[in-house]
Amino acid sequence: MQTFTVALAGNPNSGKTTLFNRLTGAHQKVGNYPGVTVEWKEGVRRLQGTELHFVDLPGTYSLTAYSEEELVARNYLLGDQPDLVVNVVDASNLERNLYLTTDLMELGLPMVVVLNMSDVAESSGLEIDTVALANRLGAPVIPAVGSRGVGLDALLASVLDVLGRNGDQPRPQVDLGQEIEPRIDELVREMAERVPQIPSRQRRWHAIKLLERDEKVVGELGRHDLADQAERLAGELDEEEPGTSDVTVSRHRYAYIGHLCRQVVRGTARPGRDLTDRLDAVAMHQVWGVPIFLALMFVVFNLTFTLGDPLMGFMETGIAALSSGVSALWPEGSTSPLRSLLVDGVIA
Ligand code: GDP
Ligand code: MG
Repeated sequence: MQTFTVALAGNPNSGKTTLFNRLTGAHQKVGNYPGVTVEWKEGVRRLQGTELHFVDLPGTYSLTAYSEEELVARNYLLGDQPDLVVNVVDASNLERNLYLTTDLMELGLPMVVVLNMSDVAESSGLEIDTVALANRLGAPVIPAVGSRGVGLDALLASVLDVLGRNGDQPRPQVDLGQEIEPRIDELVREMAERVPQIPSRQRRWHAIKLLERDEKVVGELGRHDLADQAERLAGELDEEEPGTSDVTVSRHRYAYIGHLCRQVVRGTARPGRDLTDRLDAVAMHQVWGVPIFLALMFVVFNLTFTLGDPLMGFMETGIAALSSGVSALWPEGSTSPLRSLLVDGVIA
């Protein structure tokens, strides 16, 4: 039987685990990634003489190395080389979710995109042109409603189809603009010569991470002098555009995504901002965010003491009463071990 490994990657709450459970049913193993508290989940699905090993990766917004989850996800994708990535995208939050998608595109792995939460997108009046999106991403795009099992058959068929084509299909790239692209090219050429152990399809991703001054990648490639060259190029970017080079790269990435969304999303109604967005607009405000946070912390501390004090009084009186009540079951001055156990041990 042919065996393939398929990794599920996506933002937190995009529905990865829901899909994973539907895809693998009861055939799951749960554990931890070595050395970290991030959960590892693997499950098997057999169909048409093929064994698909699904891995439910931790939810991440990007493949930077800011958190354990991100590091785990990207180390897995870089090192273990799954045969395919199923990128679970929350269709009702397309723009935000596509950031990770562009990161995944650069890793060069075969990919299938699931537009999950299609029901939510639809009810908020969003219409996504899946054919256009698939063309732009160079990967099949499958609409789904994971919680109701809608789209699962199409997803599995698409996964088998892409695996069957086996071989690197040319894939459209995220265009990061004329300041960044030539510098990526330079690093990719250099990498091909000096660090042949990096698979060719991963070169672009490594080059971008070098320009972003990603500590892990700079550390890894420092031995090959590439880090110096990258630092020079990143320094040039620092001078040409406002902000540091990593900010420049993500700004261009967002510009690309914004442009892409304008092409593939038709909103029959203006997407209603949900409660989280409206709260964020206030609580994450550039100026008022921190004062609001401090004020809330002040309220929480105050409540702890003003509400806590009388409650503590109640508890103390109650326990004292219970304790003397139980004590009184024995004659005054008794040294019964049971009395001591109950009064000094259990109740105290
Ligand atoms: P994960 O963090 O990516 O693993 O997301 P989960 O699988 O835990 O899903 C987050 C929540 O979204 C759960 O409450 C799911 O029941 C719900 N959910 C998953 N898929 C869909 C969907 O297609 N539509 C809707 N409306 N809810 C979904
Ligand atoms: Mg999950």
